[in-house]
Amino acid sequence: MTMTNLAIAELLARSVEEVEEVKRRSFRRASRGALAWPEEAASVLEQDRPLTELHAIGPRLALRIERWVENPPALGDAIPEARSGFSTLSVGRSIIDGNPSWRSELRADLQMHSTYSDGTVAIEEMALAARSLGHSYIAITDHSEGLRVAGGMTPEQLAEQKREIDELRERLSDAGIRLLHGIEMNLDEDGEGDTGPKTLAPLDLVLGSFHSKLRRTSDQTPRYLAAVNNPLIDILGHPRGRMYDRRAGLHADWGRVFDRAASTGVALEIDCNPNRQDLNAELAAKAAAAGCWVSIGTDAHSTYELTFIDLGVATVLAAGVPRERVLNYMDAEELLEWSAKRKMSALDKYGKGS
Ligand SMILES: [Zn+2]
Repeated sequence: MTMTNLAIAELLARSVEEVEEVKRRSFRRASRGALAWPEEAASVLEQDRPLTELHAIGPRLALRIERWVENPPALGDAIPEARSGFSTLSVGRSIIDGNPSWRSELRADLQMHSTYSDGTVAIEEMALAARSLGHSYIAITDHSEGLRVAGGMTPEQLAEQKREIDELRERLSDAGIRLLHGIEMNLDEDGEGDTGPKTLAPLDLVLGSFHSKLRRTSDQTPRYLAAVNNPLIDILGHPRGRMYDRRAGLHADWGRVFDRAASTGVALEIDCNPNRQDLNAELAAKAAAAGCWVSIGTDAHSTYELTFIDLGVATVLAAGVPRERVLNYMDAEELLEWSAKRKMSALDKYGKGS
């Protein structure tokens, strides 16, 4: 048996309990980091390269992992739910290697953050980095006002962002990348957003995401049905709200949720952050079988995190989602048309009020 990065992540997470308090943080960090390593640790060793090349690995952890690779411990099947159903960027890259056109023909990344909310980088820098990854357009989707902890934007800041994006458009189109102005609107547990239709109307794309009460263990089908019925949102962001090794995410009757989403036309996101992978391949396959639209977004808060897009592409491949149902394979005009149609139905429902 060879030791995969996923198995290393699990072993690192398990070791947290055994090591002294001061070391726990670095073990947790390395465990989460292992999901995002671009190549297998075992193959790094095979090439006689040091494991310290990998993110979050210092000399001591490198030694420990080396021992695991030489002599793989049995994992058993008692993997906790908060660490189950994950893949790794390294596995994702090998899936793409077998299907390169799925990566080269992808046009967009549909979720990312800038300094307007909790991102670390200005819009222009994100756009240029996305261009260098081969995207022809991106959606900037900073947090809405209700998510204070993530620096959610007031309507004034959103308007200021719109002005900046309008100014950047010409310069960036010369550079070969187009900007869509979106938002990640916070949804409450009843599936309602915190931003009115009038504020949302000028935007190109609206993601709606749950960020609270994500540790509930009871069935949450009603909040999902309300969310996918909400005509103001185009995409349900990181649907389960899970985080590797922190929380398992919400539970629902996914068959019912996906059937409803297919009929209302809301897209379901595959959030590419290796610690989210939300939806993962298993649920993305169910969503695709129900006929849902799917959207791929890195949820990047830095230029480095834009590279996580490969994990999303690998997820649609592993799930067998037809390319025609993935928003990111549309060109920007097609996507705008798609969302404009949804907007019309929102106006029918809500009128033109605030
Ligand atoms: Zn979010």
